[in-house]
Amino acid sequence: MDEKLLRQSLEELYGHAPCGYVVTDQDDIIVQVNQTFLNWTGYTQSALSSTARFSDLLTAPSRIFYENQYLPLLRMQGHVKEVAFDIVCRDRPVLPVLVNSVQRVVADGFPLLTVSIVFDATDRRRYERELLQARRRAEQLSAVVVAASDGILSMTPEGRVEACNPGAEVIFGRVAREIVGGAMRDLFPLPDSLEFQHILSELQEGRSVHLETTIRQGNDQQLPVSVALAPHLGLLGELTGISAILRDISERRALERMQHEFLAMTSHELRNPLTSIRGHAQMMKRRSEYSESSVNAIITQAGRLDRLVDDLLLASQIEAKRLTLQQSVIDLVAEVRLAVEQIPADGAPIHLETPTDPLPVLADRHRLGQVFANLLTNAIKYSAAESQIRVRVTRRGDFVTVAVSDQGAGIPPEALPHIFSRFYRVTATADQAKGLGLGLYISHRIVEAHGGRISVESQLGQGTTFTVTLPLRDDTSDNIEVQ
Ligand code: ADP
Repeated sequence: MDEKLLRQSLEELYGHAPCGYVVTDQDDIIVQVNQTFLNWTGYTQSALSSTARFSDLLTAPSRIFYENQYLPLLRMQGHVKEVAFDIVCRDRPVLPVLVNSVQRVVADGFPLLTVSIVFDATDRRRYERELLQARRRAEQLSAVVVAASDGILSMTPEGRVEACNPGAEVIFGRVAREIVGGAMRDLFPLPDSLEFQHILSELQEGRSVHLETTIRQGNDQQLPVSVALAPHLGLLGELTGISAILRDISERRALERMQHEFLAMTSHELRNPLTSIRGHAQMMKRRSEYSESSVNAIITQAGRLDRLVDDLLLASQIEAKRLTLQQSVIDLVAEVRLAVEQIPADGAPIHLETPTDPLPVLADRHRLGQVFANLLTNAIKYSAAESQIRVRVTRRGDFVTVAVSDQGAGIPPEALPHIFSRFYRVTATADQAKGLGLGLYISHRIVEAHGGRISVESQLGQGTTFTVTLPLRDDTSDNIEVQ
């Protein structure tokens, strides 16, 4: 072959190779570069010739590394492979590259030339970045799975557990090694309406399945759960795995039960006075005459209805944090006396003890009146007909206390922590008197809204004392509205 032609084609190959070639001398001055390198960086041969150093083409961090690590290593071992640098280009963004260098001894070991092959690493950097991001996302996701309170299971296409999160250990009440390897059909029994084969074929079709069931935990306790099964499909649409998310729904079930009981109780409580009102009205119509006792009964029962509806509305206002107070400075002694006087006295008179001087408090008279009426009504409701009820108003420093004591049924100790909860009623006394279990809840919230507190002491079979403590209003310049 013609030698000239061979040299030409080698130069052609060298010049347009899919990588950059850079030759530098021992002072790092660029002696030669190929066309590919010039095309990538946008420099001309003349701009780079003789005075430019390779390090001048690098970004500052790259240059520091190149001068302090790369060159010393190259001089020491004669070659360095695959090191990443960033080249500052003429009219385009920085070019990420991978550089491989070998040192060439030209003659008698001197002078030295460095031949570097430069690869464009743009794609590689992008992949690395994407990989890093994907890894970070995967780590985040697995942190979510670990921290989730839901139980998460990963299963084979046949429904055998391969892995589970700590949430699943809590839900099943078992450690992971007791769950992993178990079959789905043993772990959560299916509702009667569902067959395992049906679930599997839904998943094979790529459809998710939602169900609710009750699982037996490690300690033999039953736990109602919702289960969401999701299929993982392969490239050919085949089922490659199943994931399950199990959620403890015991609170929701308890709430549903409570709502159900509440509806039953409310309708019962509202229907009683309505029935009585209708009965009396029909009787008056039948007899075509006005009966005072029937009219009185109608008025009493309508009042009861009114109070029930009032309590329901007030409870929902409190729940929605919309309880508003219309406060003024009032005399608490007079207020308590009024509440005692307004209570229908069927049994023994209520014994009232108060200081002689007025005790000013900043309060919503109507709401506070409701609190004392609730406590007094309860004291009557949950005591024998003639038993003694005492109300004592006492000043204690900057506070005033109102204690309502009865000698009635008392409250069992285990019920005391729940006594101010919404709709709570003590089972043992629930039949003894009508009620919605809202009075104490409302009273508690009203007293708290006044900056006070309410407490209870009770001995089963001996009696109960509810004590309301309110801050005294020291500012005597305010007018006390006395009833
Ligand atoms: P209600 O009386 O409508 O049931 P409350 O909220 O006023 O609702 O009271 C809640 C429960 O607390 C009552 O059902 C009753 O079991 C108990 N309770 C309240 N006051 C007394 C009391 N003075 N003596 C005994 N039990 C009481």
